[in-house]
Amino acid sequence: QGLAGRSTNEVLQLYAARGGQQKLQRSFLVTQLHRAIKKRLKQDLKSLHSFALELSKEFRRQSKTCLYQVLAAVQGVQLQNEAMQMFQIKAFDLEQSLQEVTERYEKEKQKRKALHNSLVELRGNIRVHCRIRPLLPFDDAAGHSISQDRQRNFSEKVAYAADDETVLVKCSRPGHASINKTFQFERVYNDSESQDAVFADVAPLLTSLLDGYNVCIMAYGQTGSGKTYTMLGPQVEGNFAFAVEDESELGIIPRATQEVFRLISEKPPGTYWVEVSVVEVHNNEIFDLLAKDSYGKVFSIKRDVVTTREGKSDVPLLTHETVENASEFLHLVKKGIQLRVRHPTLVHAHSSRSHLVVTLTITTVVFGDNFGTSWEDEQASQRLNKDVSCTFPQKKRESLSASSSGASSPVQFEATEKIKQVKTRLQLVDLAGSECVGMSGVTGAALRETSFINRSLSALADVLGAIAEQRSHVPYRNSKLTHLLQDSVGGDAKLLVMLCISPGQKYLTESMQSLGFGTRARQVQRGQVKKKNFPMPSKAK
Ligand code: ADP
Ligand code: MG
Repeated sequence: QGLAGRSTNEVLQLYAARGGQQKLQRSFLVTQLHRAIKKRLKQDLKSLHSFALELSKEFRRQSKTCLYQVLAAVQGVQLQNEAMQMFQIKAFDLEQSLQEVTERYEKEKQKRKALHNSLVELRGNIRVHCRIRPLLPFDDAAGHSISQDRQRNFSEKVAYAADDETVLVKCSRPGHASINKTFQFERVYNDSESQDAVFADVAPLLTSLLDGYNVCIMAYGQTGSGKTYTMLGPQVEGNFAFAVEDESELGIIPRATQEVFRLISEKPPGTYWVEVSVVEVHNNEIFDLLAKDSYGKVFSIKRDVVTTREGKSDVPLLTHETVENASEFLHLVKKGIQLRVRHPTLVHAHSSRSHLVVTLTITTVVFGDNFGTSWEDEQASQRLNKDVSCTFPQKKRESLSASSSGASSPVQFEATEKIKQVKTRLQLVDLAGSECVGMSGVTGAALRETSFINRSLSALADVLGAIAEQRSHVPYRNSKLTHLLQDSVGGDAKLLVMLCISPGQKYLTESMQSLGFGTRARQVQRGQVKKKNFPMPSKAK
């Protein structure tokens, strides 16, 4: 505005002066700004420096801590290593002592086996146990028309277990001489003793079975006295309660089978196998209860019992089924038993009119090299060799016997033959009722049956008597029953007779008869309580 009227030069000068002034002002501002920035930078640098110092201090401190921690960890690892080594040494020591204990255990087991056999030996080969069953509702049912008073007397208890070896029969009846008599047995079970308790005394015999002895367990007594209950278990409408949920009710036969399989499971696999046969002896005839018709249906077929050249009893063509476990066995036995002949007598609705014989044949593969390692093995070898059936072909056997002088001794085969099969037998017998004819009130065919039963039971008594007196001739062949049981009753076989007694007065005569049978059988072993001397096998050829 102020330029109007001024010359160009003046205008130019004015512009120049103004530009210079502005320039000066700008450079002043720049200088100021520069200074401020510089100052700020200096400050920042300073704080950065102190921060870096702090940081490095912190870093040093932390790395020191870390170092300590690493050192501690290393030390810890070293300690752990030492502890680990200690543990390893301890584990090694333990392993060694375990091995020693196992070896000692094996030795003890062998000793136990020898002692067990000595004990069984000392107890004699025939032992008699007696079981008194509880009074049961059917004991009240009279069957005859008798006065109420007499009936009351009838169901009175007259047989008791005085202690676990004594039976007391105590009875006073009007018009009869009073009875107060005791009978001694190896074991007496009172009416509250369980199936478990009964089996506990039976089980040791099964150990003998696997040690090479034949074993027979038989129940003797009148119908209704508890034979089938003791041997098999309670009956449910004609079936036996094998498959019952309540295992505590199982009888000797299923339990013994379980025990045999348990004992076998402790042996090396594949060295034992078990076959089963079920027969019934009815009217002095033997019936194979496992025989099958062409449709595979089980039916009962007649067989005969013979004596082999070796003097053993054998039933040609008898069905033997191989079983792998106790339940397979029970399934078979159950099927067989359903064919068993029954006849309701006045004594009890499920009277069994036949003897039932369940046989478990245990075949053992014996390796020749295993013989003769210890005293017991020598004994077993001797004993087992009696039953040896050689698996080698006849020709080879002949050449073997020809080449060794006096080759009749089986032990002498041992060096040449490596494998032998040995058979031992467990016979479990539920005998027919021992009641006499008058008692059961039967006539006709049933009377004939009863007389066959009585004859076979007295043949059994005769056999036991002959063994008692160590007679050279034992009349096994007087009845099919004794012939069939020959190998598990005579020789060094172990027999257990389980006398079953009904405690009621109604059964007094029968009970006294059974107790008498048991007492006579027991005398068998009383005269025999002496250790058998097995000849030591000679290894020299
Ligand atoms: P047996 O075979 O001698 O003819 P059972 O075994 O059939 O006799 O027994 C007759 C009845 O008595 C059966 O009902 C059975 O369950 C029962 N019994 C037998 N012994 C006993 C016992 N110890 N405890 C309970 N009941 C028993
Ligand atoms: Mg019965």
